[in-house]
Amino acid sequence: MAAAADAGYDPSAALAATSTCAHCQREIPSSNIDLHSAHCARNLQKCEHCGEMVARKLMDKHYNEDHAPVNCDLCKEIIQREIWDLHKRDHCPQRIVACEYCEFELPAVELHEHQVLFYCCL
Ligand SMILES: [Zn+2]
Ligand SMILES: [Zn+2]
Ligand SMILES: [Zn+2]
Ligand SMILES: [Zn+2]
Repeated sequence: MAAAADAGYDPSAALAATSTCAHCQREIPSSNIDLHSAHCARNLQKCEHCGEMVARKLMDKHYNEDHAPVNCDLCKEIIQREIWDLHKRDHCPQRIVACEYCEFELPAVELHEHQVLFYCCL
């Protein structure tokens, strides 16, 4: 490999030179960055809830799947997405729990009554 290369053109340098796209945070070859960046800006949108870059046409879907409040079909409450897991597991008054004494399964909201009124724990 002698100095047969075209003057001023060094393929390895061209490959190594990348810039970070401000929109998608990916490493893009510098030769493409302008094109890429314009493309990204046109097609991606920063999600105001999680800061992720999301394709504009998928933003509604992204919001609905990741951020929209959830309508709990057990208690009919509207639950913020951040506490949805907690709600399902520990907070929903209508979640099904097993009585610790008789193992009867019933909505959490009725557990106390079940244990006290029906004396199941005695
Ligand atoms: Zn990009
Ligand atoms: Zn988001
Ligand atoms: Zn609920
Ligand atoms: Zn019981």
